[in-house]
Amino acid sequence: MKYKTPVGPERSCKGWVQEAALRMLLNNLNPDVAERPDDLIVYGGRGKAVRNFESLDLIIKALKNLENNESLLIQSGKPVGILRTHEDAPRILISNSQLVPKWATWEHFDELEKKGLMMYGQMTAGSWIYIGSQGIVQGTYETYAAAADKHFNGTLKGTLNVTAGLGGMGGAQPLAITMNEGVALIAEVEEWRIDKRLETRYLDEKMTDIDAAIDRALEARAKGEVLSIGVLCNAVHLLERLISRNVVPDTLTDQTSAHDPLIGYIPHTLTVGQANVLRHDHPDQYLKHSYNSMTLHVEHMLTLQKMGAITFDYGNNIRARAQEHGLQNAFDFPGFVPAYIRPLFCEGKGPFRWAALSGDPADIAVTDELIAGMFPENKSLQRWLKLAKEKIAFQGLPARICWLGQGEREKAGLAFNELVRTGKVKAPIVIGRDHLDTGSVASPNRETEAMLDGSDAVADWPLLNALVNTAGGASWVSLHHGGGVGMGYSIHAGMVIVADGTEAAEARLARVLRNDPGMGVIRHADAGYDIAKDTARQHRLDLTDRLG
Ligand code: NAD
Repeated sequence: MKYKTPVGPERSCKGWVQEAALRMLLNNLNPDVAERPDDLIVYGGRGKAVRNFESLDLIIKALKNLENNESLLIQSGKPVGILRTHEDAPRILISNSQLVPKWATWEHFDELEKKGLMMYGQMTAGSWIYIGSQGIVQGTYETYAAAADKHFNGTLKGTLNVTAGLGGMGGAQPLAITMNEGVALIAEVEEWRIDKRLETRYLDEKMTDIDAAIDRALEARAKGEVLSIGVLCNAVHLLERLISRNVVPDTLTDQTSAHDPLIGYIPHTLTVGQANVLRHDHPDQYLKHSYNSMTLHVEHMLTLQKMGAITFDYGNNIRARAQEHGLQNAFDFPGFVPAYIRPLFCEGKGPFRWAALSGDPADIAVTDELIAGMFPENKSLQRWLKLAKEKIAFQGLPARICWLGQGEREKAGLAFNELVRTGKVKAPIVIGRDHLDTGSVASPNRETEAMLDGSDAVADWPLLNALVNTAGGASWVSLHHGGGVGMGYSIHAGMVIVADGTEAAEARLARVLRNDPGMGVIRHADAGYDIAKDTARQHRLDLTDRLG
């Protein structure tokens, strides 16, 4: 990567919002952060931050030029114009991978991508707020914590948790499982991914023999040890061995990039080397291997579920892939959102994150302390902050993630602005969130699976979210298609807002950080969830509160 992320208190752009966008874009592509920076791929299969190197050069120039009353337009990773807006408007407006619904398939997208007309932005890659694997650690930690509460008396101690995929996001799984005191056994086909997780301390051990890895995991489970093992093999082969040896995991899921059958998923019938050649030379044949393998993969998951494993889909759409290939009962195991996360969404909770633009880890320590002091009653948050400090190695700009809900995010954002204003941190703080989110996603096989009123596929909500964040004055706003689960399966919106210590930022933060989670509360209240209705009333988001 020819560019380095600027750090420190001096800026080269005409405002801190532009500067923040520049730093976060380059942070996304920092080799310590991105999975494949030389291909501009940040994470999640082929999730990119910019379309190509030419676009990257142009975006950097545009951001340095951009006035405080202008907005830069990005169309699927390419800068296409600068228009006049006003000081409180977003400085950047982004739309990624949008296709008219009838054309919304990977096949059509692939054609456009080949012609250089489109880019896949995944979620936080294309919205320039990816912060490395930490970004997902807390969500994964919360999911396993919720599973532990529901099934194992609040801890994964003495449990065997099997999954696959140690990529950008999947790499958070071993740490999230060990933070919940369990044993993780994770299949990964690419050795460098395992090594990367070892280096960043997300994973404890690498093994290359499947049986030896299963033995080691069983021994650790029996002793109540806390341990994560990455085993170099295909997920299908690991599950096959578990079934044939009659070893039943306590929990079972998967985070291979099954959302993208061509680029993301590696079939068990091919080595990684063979996969790379076949994908390039004969994509149709590759897709056949891929679909066969994903179908067998889900069949094995269903078998282990029958044998007693608590099995859930972890948001990669593997069930839909198997069903597209004819496996009728692929949806017999639930998605993780209806199983564990929805009650949190009803309170406007979701992965709130921030990064220190100074580049100084001490600034994050200041924010950690502030947050811990602000929410003393929130026990799981306190535990998370303590563990995060001990166990999370920063990648790129120092950052933190915390699941905060309605009311809490606004409070935190305003307090961060105060830290900047009073010089307690060395440069502004940039605040954003994931799209695994309460009010900005329509994704019927993931965030909006099994909604109470059947509104899973209604995509008005993410569009309203992007509109309201634009109206409120977020620093940059993005609209995406296909993140997490692939083309045709999701529409979602991102927002980022900069706390630069000014009064204008304070007003924008108060609006945006109230409205953004508020959209989630309203969306879930509208679908009939009581927790959301109560939260809406409590925070005066309720229409009846106004109209009687
Ligand atoms: P990634 O592309 O960076 O990594 C995927 C990993 O899976 C790679 O390391 C690859 O080598 C490995 N892999 C592929 N096929 C395999 C197979 N058959 N057996 C073993 N390993 C295999 O992707 P990522 O960012 O880690 O995301 C993974 C998936 O999880 C995506 O589909 C993503 O959308 C989904 N996801 C879900 C959530 C969530 O919160 N539920 C969050 C992020 C990502």
